[in-house]
Amino acid sequence: MNIPLRHCRVCLGERLTPFLSLGKMPPINSFPAGEDDFVAEKFFDLTVAFCEDCSHAQLTEALDPKAVFSDYVYFSSMSDTFVAHGRELAMELKEKMKLSEKDLVAEIASNDGALLQSFKSLPTRILGIEPARNIATVARERGFPTVVEFFTEELGKRLREEYGPARIILGTNVLAHVLDLRDFVRGIRSFLADDGAAVIEVPYLVNLIDGLEFDTIYHEHLSYFRVEVLDRLFQSEGLLLFDAERIPLHGGSLKVFIGHPNGPHERTARVGELIAFERERDLGTIAPYQAFALRVAAVRERTLEFLRGLHDAGKHIAGYGAAAKGNVFLNYCQVGPDLIEFIADRSPHKQGRFTPRNHIPVVAPEEILRRMPDILVIFAWNFADEIIFQQSEYRQRGGKFAMLLPEPRVIL
Ligand SMILES: [Zn+2]
Repeated sequence: MNIPLRHCRVCLGERLTPFLSLGKMPPINSFPAGEDDFVAEKFFDLTVAFCEDCSHAQLTEALDPKAVFSDYVYFSSMSDTFVAHGRELAMELKEKMKLSEKDLVAEIASNDGALLQSFKSLPTRILGIEPARNIATVARERGFPTVVEFFTEELGKRLREEYGPARIILGTNVLAHVLDLRDFVRGIRSFLADDGAAVIEVPYLVNLIDGLEFDTIYHEHLSYFRVEVLDRLFQSEGLLLFDAERIPLHGGSLKVFIGHPNGPHERTARVGELIAFERERDLGTIAPYQAFALRVAAVRERTLEFLRGLHDAGKHIAGYGAAAKGNVFLNYCQVGPDLIEFIADRSPHKQGRFTPRNHIPVVAPEEILRRMPDILVIFAWNFADEIIFQQSEYRQRGGKFAMLLPEPRVIL
């Protein structure tokens, strides 16, 4: 079920040097239901390597995407922040690209239509592409035409024949998950209209390093991107990265715009500025990656001290957000239900189940007020403001919040 990395996903070179190991982990979005599932859990190596040829940071081992994504538990519409982000993007593109009725807006990994719903108010045709059948079914019920397949070069060609070229291709939460990046990029090239733009968002490597966001490293995220490497990736398949921008989503992301080199788009100065910024930080060499790995090991020690200190002082600790981030953190730090009594999560697909490997019970958010833990650790730190707002009554009753990155601390 695991697929070892044989060559770099971007440049196809073979000189890969591992720099960070987070140990053995189960698939991070598999939530066992009880004892029978616990004994059947499987563990896979979670290690990140640096390509000595193009400097791309990537996992050395991938899970079979068909096993991970065919029946998925993450529904984008669960997140208010994400839905608001979609609204802004739709307005921006309407303006920039002067979209009209004949234009096709297609989204790769469209999930339940959380982003496409913002494009419904525009006079364009829309199309979702989503490999998880259970999620695509929800999207269709909500009125979004959805093709249930993985996006590949072959599919890109087929969609162009069937629907015509896409004026906009959205890929806001997909590129880091892709096993065969070059094939995926060829798919975009095939499907994208001559005057079209693909809008790709990825978590930014610089934010990962600076914010010590190692909990975004898990089996589904195969690649950790920066502008210079993305530029090389698209260029190698005959596309032009013509604009790049840092955005706050998911702890700090990059939004890049891709077009055909002979299309109407001029490359902006921002692209060169960001590449220069990355070079100043030596991100083409392995040294900053090795320094990052040392900081990750140190924060594990401080987190364990922090949680044990609270526990020894008689505090009841619970968590909020049984998302991948929390599971990576708990697994790497080996924290179980002895320290974190339960984790609240809005997704009914997770409630009544347990976190992978450490087996902390996952409950509905209503349990927080019923059980009133002294400390609520926010694992989904990218949605911290939203969670604190939702849990205002817990706070009024004297409950405290804690965050673990980049430094474990009680925040409110
Ligand atoms: Zn490479």
